[in-house]
Amino acid sequence: MITLETELVRIRGIAPAFLAKLEKLKIKTVKDLLWHFPYRYDDFSKIVKIGTLQVSQAATVSGTIHKIEARRTWRRRMVVIEALVADETGGIKAVWFNQPYITRVLRPGMSVNFAGKVLSNDGEAYLSNPAYEPLGGASETKHTAGLIPIYSETRGLTSKGLRYLVKPLLRVLPPIQDFIPKNILSAYNLPELDIALKQIHFPALLAEAEQAKRRFAFEDLFLLQLNNLKLKQKLTQSKSYPIKWADSEIKEIVSLLPFELTNSQNRSMGEILADIAKPVPMNRLLQGDVGSGKTVIAAIAAMLAARSGEQTAFMAPTEVLARQHFKTFEKIFRSYINSGIKIGLLLSGLTNKEKKQTVEKTASGEIKILVGTHALIQKSVEFKNLGLVIVDEQHRFGVKQRAALTGGKIVSSGAKLPHFLSMSATPIPRTLSLTLFGDLDISIIDELPKGRKPIVTKVVAPENRARAYEFIRAQIKFGRQAFVICPKIEEAANDQELTDGAKPPLNNKWSDVKAVKAEYEKLSKKTFPDLKVAMMHGKLPARGGSPPDGRAGASGGKSKSEVMREFAEGKIDILVSTSVVEVGVDVPNASIMLIEGADRFGLAQLYQFRGRVGRGEHQSFVFLFTDSSSDSTKRRLDALLKAKNGFELAEQDLAIRGPGQFLGDKQTGLPDLAMRSLNNMALVKSARESAVEIIKKDPELNNYPNLEEKLSVFQKEIHLE
Ligand code: ADP
Ligand code: MG
Repeated sequence: MITLETELVRIRGIAPAFLAKLEKLKIKTVKDLLWHFPYRYDDFSKIVKIGTLQVSQAATVSGTIHKIEARRTWRRRMVVIEALVADETGGIKAVWFNQPYITRVLRPGMSVNFAGKVLSNDGEAYLSNPAYEPLGGASETKHTAGLIPIYSETRGLTSKGLRYLVKPLLRVLPPIQDFIPKNILSAYNLPELDIALKQIHFPALLAEAEQAKRRFAFEDLFLLQLNNLKLKQKLTQSKSYPIKWADSEIKEIVSLLPFELTNSQNRSMGEILADIAKPVPMNRLLQGDVGSGKTVIAAIAAMLAARSGEQTAFMAPTEVLARQHFKTFEKIFRSYINSGIKIGLLLSGLTNKEKKQTVEKTASGEIKILVGTHALIQKSVEFKNLGLVIVDEQHRFGVKQRAALTGGKIVSSGAKLPHFLSMSATPIPRTLSLTLFGDLDISIIDELPKGRKPIVTKVVAPENRARAYEFIRAQIKFGRQAFVICPKIEEAANDQELTDGAKPPLNNKWSDVKAVKAEYEKLSKKTFPDLKVAMMHGKLPARGGSPPDGRAGASGGKSKSEVMREFAEGKIDILVSTSVVEVGVDVPNASIMLIEGADRFGLAQLYQFRGRVGRGEHQSFVFLFTDSSSDSTKRRLDALLKAKNGFELAEQDLAIRGPGQFLGDKQTGLPDLAMRSLNNMALVKSARESAVEIIKKDPELNNYPNLEEKLSVFQKEIHLE
């Protein structure tokens, strides 16, 4: 018997070549095949009389073959098959190129359906390359009548071939147990699994296909919601280290800051501190526009934890940022550090000896706050009593890494779970916060510190480049500093390495893309020989002196951290950089940013870049350069110019690019259909309602064994892939 689990190799009659192609798409079982959904349907639902055909119409005709022959074009050496088909209203020629076998399938006198587009050649109409199907046999029509499914035809896998396989399988397959309870299906008017499968492949009406798609999208959203609720449930049943603090301590810490907290900083801080004082673990996202001052709030929580005896892991996505956070801690908490609270820094770029020492002091509990990169979640790192985990720019970490932090070894290192705080400047549009991040509580910082001026952002036409440079020079004379961002490290045609996140140009003309090294040469030697220009990119050594090849060339042989330090200290006027400065870097005196090849970056990324300026009291400027005049570039850059804040921009970005691109696939691990339906607020809501209801009635899903099993498979898929 054939079931969903049956491997396609075990089914007789599938050509080995076709199997191989399926395998390339990871389609191995009947289930894989049936869940390879069509992406559209050709409508051949009406048989059209040949006499009424119009040029450029797509139609199905039904008639008898009067003549069929192959001939060779002498010039292009192609085989052309021509057939004449006629019904009672007239006749038309059908033409195929390079498919000689057709003469073996179709013969004069046969009754057939032809489905295709009518074209015209020298005034003579013909059906171009139509799908064909002999009539009168035992099998039903799959290719030429009704709504014909069209699948994405990657790697030589034809829709026709897929239809041949799918149709009979759907017929012989025994009924499948539906894991979604019946009452939910009927409440939201969703078809049962068996029916939905048939309808998504061979719908009688387009509306049926839509219903079926809705059902499959609902499935994933529903499972996602259940997963969120389960996580939340698990969390409320677990224990944490309650972090004790007194009001007087908060006052004391806040008085150490060189500024006053904004109202929203105060409110967010209150929410976080209330959570971490509880004996159940916090799971909270601190969301706030770039430059809104998230770091200091997290730092205060970490310091209170340290004083209450608990350790904090503070993770940032880049070494540059981790170092910067470490320095911020050292600066604002000088007095605490002097009185014995130890803060450590762990990066993969450190020497083994340094790393070993830090790891030891973390294991012994001597280091109270450990700042670092991914290095923090390596196996060798053990905490004595980890009370709080903070992840900065959480959207930069993949699902796996986040899972490692929350559900992974840190959790199992003791009976208690740490409180978890993640931070992001990429606001999460509401549909997404209800789904992907439904297990999180959210605190929002929705104002910038006083005195910040809106950043002036402009797209600069190429002919005004010189004027932009003059402007930069004038600002630097006033004491400011500038960033120049390029999408690529090197110019050489064979070095196609891009900086993080940048896309290759569509035409693959790399010479069009500004490279950091070349730009650095030009700016330091020709444009600004009198100013201090430096270069920054991911290939500079993390730390220490000259690079291994001994060239003290372009960067002056400096490491990333030296360059960053000098820039922060004002010793460098212009920093030519790749996207390594994208997130978090905080140099308030830098007030100008020039972005080359702006079309190469995503909106969220451009927004992050822009957040590097406008961090102090100075009026700041961002100049965008692009060679692309495409519509989508224009729309995206326009969105950046117009959006008043990150929230607005995120909504637009989501609309322009869709959730997959918006979040990065790594982020979610969600299937396509579900990703696309994240925009569908109504569906998201019904999935949420159903999940809440079912968990309320039956938290362990005891009465829903199918659902429970499906959920555990789903959890594995989204966490580990
Ligand atoms: P982000 O939220 O983007 O991570 P940061 O935490 O890096 O922002 O803060 C941006 C800058 O604003 C830093 O230089 C920080 O010291 C400063 N800052 C934070 N809070 C305030 C405040 N209430 N008033 C003035 N400056 C502040
Ligand atoms: Mg930050």
